[in-house]
Amino acid sequence: MSEQQQCPCGSKKTYVECCMPVLEGTARAETAEQLMRSRYTAFSKMNNEYLLASWAAKTRPKQLDTDETPVKWINLEILDTEQGTAQDANGTVSFIASFIVSGHLCHLQEKSSFIKEDDTWFYLDGIPESSTKKIPRNSSCPCGSGKKFKRCCL
Ligand SMILES: [Zn+2]
Ligand SMILES: [Zn+2]
Repeated sequence: MSEQQQCPCGSKKTYVECCMPVLEGTARAETAEQLMRSRYTAFSKMNNEYLLASWAAKTRPKQLDTDETPVKWINLEILDTEQGTAQDANGTVSFIASFIVSGHLCHLQEKSSFIKEDDTWFYLDGIPESSTKKIPRNSSCPCGSGKKFKRCCL
């Protein structure tokens, strides 16, 4: 991935200016939303190590199973945030993450909770509402590229 490429989290910033320093540990997420974005980016890059490291100790799984079915993460939409600013110790972020698995477009909608410990944000848990919908192959791609779905992420 080129350094000038847009960040997978959809912030419209470049990867180097956005999630890369957080994933590489050279910067901390200042807000719950930033941590949420960095975790989405980690999902899209299958960076399980970062996903576990950014998980609160009390809810962290021992390990993450690597999916055998390849999942292509194509879009993150932040719907709402409550608290979670640099001054808060906890917060929630509601989002829809879109991905393609086995040629189907899926949306994962979740309200995630985050806590701050030792000045570092961690993912606590989330309430998922999953939904799947098929989109026509000729409609514009949900990743926002402006191309047709069948010529882009499908
Ligand atoms: Zn980002
Ligand atoms: Zn696309």
